[in-house]
Amino acid sequence: MPERKTFGGGGGYERPKGYRLYETVMDKEGNPVDKKIVDFKADKGEKNRRVVILDENLDYAVRLHKQFKLDGTWANMVVCRSGLNDTKGCPLCDVLERRYSWLLCGTLIDRDGWTSTEGNNKGTNYPNLRRLLLIPDQVAETFETIGEELEGGWRGAQFKVSRSSGEKSLRIGDNWREDFRAGKLKEQDMLDEFEESAERYGLSVERFSQAFDYDSIFKPKSYEELLEIANEYKKTIGRSPSEERGSRPKSLETAGKGGDEDEDADALPF
Ligand SMILES: [Zn+2]
Repeated sequence: MPERKTFGGGGGYERPKGYRLYETVMDKEGNPVDKKIVDFKADKGEKNRRVVILDENLDYAVRLHKQFKLDGTWANMVVCRSGLNDTKGCPLCDVLERRYSWLLCGTLIDRDGWTSTEGNNKGTNYPNLRRLLLIPDQVAETFETIGEELEGGWRGAQFKVSRSSGEKSLRIGDNWREDFRAGKLKEQDMLDEFEESAERYGLSVERFSQAFDYDSIFKPKSYEELLEIANEYKKTIGRSPSEERGSRPKSLETAGKGGDEDEDADALPF
């Protein structure tokens, strides 16, 4: 895969692992760099993780190939080319046996953030992390209902997110309760409260407080690039059937085995 400079992970530059989505941010010297986008997840059994939604509406849907093992990780995400305005089709649909996910997209700030568990900064909490919310098709309606009941739309709405501990529990949490006590976060609140996190992330606080530019982060790769990925994937098939083969079975988030859960460790913390 192509070498590209990224900023994030433990800080500094790193070779990306697998195929991911990126947002352009500024490094400390003011140079544009691609930063790996982290999708939101709650831990199994976790209670009341606090998040705030940045979108006005949750109405952007994307067809993604995700959770297929390549380049040593399950955390791959590649936009599907099927249905685009050409007749070539999607090479990944062919090799992944059409396994893809329709996902409703949102942007949230994970207010609780991440707490370092080792090293010099052990115990330090980094709040207000920018995360991509990927809502699986099967719960899109639930989110629609939540949206209808929100006064004044999604933007600034705060939630407490819990996730059951079951093997097949939903990655984004299966219980979203509006945090009435915290109330809605106002524009000025965001600018005040996110300033430090925005600087660490590499965006102005104004940009940090806005949703991802979905057209840009989900810009499909070319047919040729997808063909290359598909060929790379094909080589892994049959090498070690139990481990390497295939994307995860059945439905996206709920597939039990194969360990996406902790494969994201490289994506932490910011
Ligand atoms: Zn496809």
